[in-house]
Amino acid sequence: MKNTRPVAFVTGASRGIGRGIALALAGAGYDVAGNSRVLSPQSETGIFEVKKRVDELGAQFLPVKGDVSELDDHQPMLDEVVERFGRLDLLVNNAGVAPELRVDVLDTSVESFDRVLSTNLRGPFFLTQKAAHLMIEQRKAAPEMRPKIVFITSVSAYIASPSRSEYCVSKSGLSMAAAIFAARLAQRDIAVYEVRPGVIKTDMTSPVSERYDKLIAEGLIPQSRWGLPEDVARAVVALANGSFDYSTGLVVEVSGGMNIRRL
Ligand code: NAP
Repeated sequence: MKNTRPVAFVTGASRGIGRGIALALAGAGYDVAGNSRVLSPQSETGIFEVKKRVDELGAQFLPVKGDVSELDDHQPMLDEVVERFGRLDLLVNNAGVAPELRVDVLDTSVESFDRVLSTNLRGPFFLTQKAAHLMIEQRKAAPEMRPKIVFITSVSAYIASPSRSEYCVSKSGLSMAAAIFAARLAQRDIAVYEVRPGVIKTDMTSPVSERYDKLIAEGLIPQSRWGLPEDVARAVVALANGSFDYSTGLVVEVSGGMNIRRL
């Protein structure tokens, strides 16, 4: 039977920004399917910790195992969501990786380039293609539905970092993917948005936290603090709740003002 509450599928929901998005959506009236590469029900951390928190909020949570970089995992993940909830109202393409090592662009390896691009760009591109087909079919049976897709990119979509070029290239490409899906799906009443976080306190940035503490103290971020997963999550909820229904293709920067050109 079809869920009465809207349903979101969040990739990379086990920690960091994806975890924050899953909790915020649950608090905003969504039931949530949260993806992780690892499902360990006994663990105090990871996707089952998120499930526990979502349960406490009175929403349903479905842990969905899968690797976004593996195209063969995409359809089974979407099938699992539909089998459980009967609908998909929101896809949040959040899962992503940083390069394992920061290496000068003159020495970037093919292996690192392929690893980062396959998770951050190729995976979400083709997952979105499949989700879009599903949403189009869904609207044929339920034209009142207004499904949405959100891409979590980064300020690295436009700020060039020569020591992690593959990450910047992946996010720049993902930003274009968001624009292309927005243009294509507009006529189907499926809104597509891009959320661009700046420097957010998560596992991804923990290896370079001292470096960013220093840069923030020196003025890197106009609002002069680390971003938190909750900052990004609030932006996703604002897009999901319908306030921006006539703004497909919107890019929302969540970076404390890093987008402001300063002299
Ligand atoms: P994080 O703390 O490292 O968490 C990454 C999440 O992605 C985890 O839940 C991880 O899940 C999942 N993941 C990684 N590879 C995956 C794969 N192949 N398939 C499925 N899930 C995968 O990172 P984060 O900081 O929250 O970043 C989340 C997103 O925001 C990323 O796209 C990142 O590029 C972007 N972003 C982050 C920052 C920042 O400063 N932190 C800034 C701008 C943009 P498992 O390991 O459990 O599978």
